[in-house]
Amino acid sequence: MIYYKTNEEIEKIRESCLLVCKTLALVGSMLKPGVTGEDIDKEAEAFIRDSGAVPGFKGYRGFPATLCISPNSCIVHGVPSKTPFKEGDIVSVDCGTYMNEFYGDAAYTFAIGDVSEEVMKLLNITNASLYRGIENARVGNRLGDISFAIQDFTQRVHKYSVVRELVGHGLGKNLHEEPEVPNFGKRGRGIKLSPGLVIAVEPMINLGRKEVRTLDDGWSVLTRDNQMSAHYEHTIAITENGPDILSNHSFVEEAIDKNPNLKSIESAEAILG
Ligand code: MG
Ligand code: MG
Repeated sequence: MIYYKTNEEIEKIRESCLLVCKTLALVGSMLKPGVTGEDIDKEAEAFIRDSGAVPGFKGYRGFPATLCISPNSCIVHGVPSKTPFKEGDIVSVDCGTYMNEFYGDAAYTFAIGDVSEEVMKLLNITNASLYRGIENARVGNRLGDISFAIQDFTQRVHKYSVVRELVGHGLGKNLHEEPEVPNFGKRGRGIKLSPGLVIAVEPMINLGRKEVRTLDDGWSVLTRDNQMSAHYEHTIAITENGPDILSNHSFVEEAIDKNPNLKSIESAEAILG
C-alpha cells in the first residue's frame, strides 16, 4: 500500500530532511584524520535532539546509533566505532530524523584528504547518478525509469557495479514505506509515478564487484571484494512540476568547502552537462 502525501505533509518531510542535511553538514565540519565515528555520532544526536527532533535510525530494528557511518568498503549500515578516521578514507554517512510525525532521510559520501583519483571518480559518478535518477522522477514515467537511469549511467557507461540487496524506498510517517526503489531495473516497468509520491533515491555503487557481505555485528554491509563503495541519497517528492528534492546537499557541500581536511566532489551538473 502506497501512501500519497498532501502538500502539507510534503512540507513536514522537507523540514525533517533539512534537519538531516544540517546534521550531515555538522558531520562535514567535524570529519578529519583522528576523529572517530563515535565522537561524530554523539554530536549528531545532541544536535538533532536540541533541534526538537528524534534520531530516525536509533532503535530502528535495534540499530544502536544516530548515524550509519560506513567507511571505505562498507557500503551502508556501518555502526559508529572507536576507530579513528585516517587520511585517504572515504566515509558514507546516512542520517534520518523524525520530526512533526514525519521522517527525513539523506546520505553523503565524504573524502578525507588524499583520496585517489580513481576513488574520487567513483564518488563523482555515484553522486551524478543520483541526479540522473531524479531527472526521471516525473509524472507519467514509471519507477523503473529512475532505476534504469541510475544503472545505465553507473554500470553501462562507467563500468561500476550496482548493489542489488539494498534499495531506496518510500517514506513518510514510516522510515521505510512502499514502494521499493531499486538502483537497477528496466525502463517502463513498475508503478506509474504520481503526484504526492515521496521516495528516497539512494544509489549504492561499488568500484569492483556487486556482491556484498554482512559483518558479525549484524549491521555493516561491505563489498565482498573489499573494494570501495559510495552512497548518496536524497528524499524527493513527485509533483506536477517535476521532482521536488526535499533534502538539500548544499548545506553539506558548504561545510566540506570550509573543512581543509576534506576533498570536494565535482557537481552533478559539471558531469551531466
Ligand atoms: Mg538514508
Ligand atoms: Mg534511505
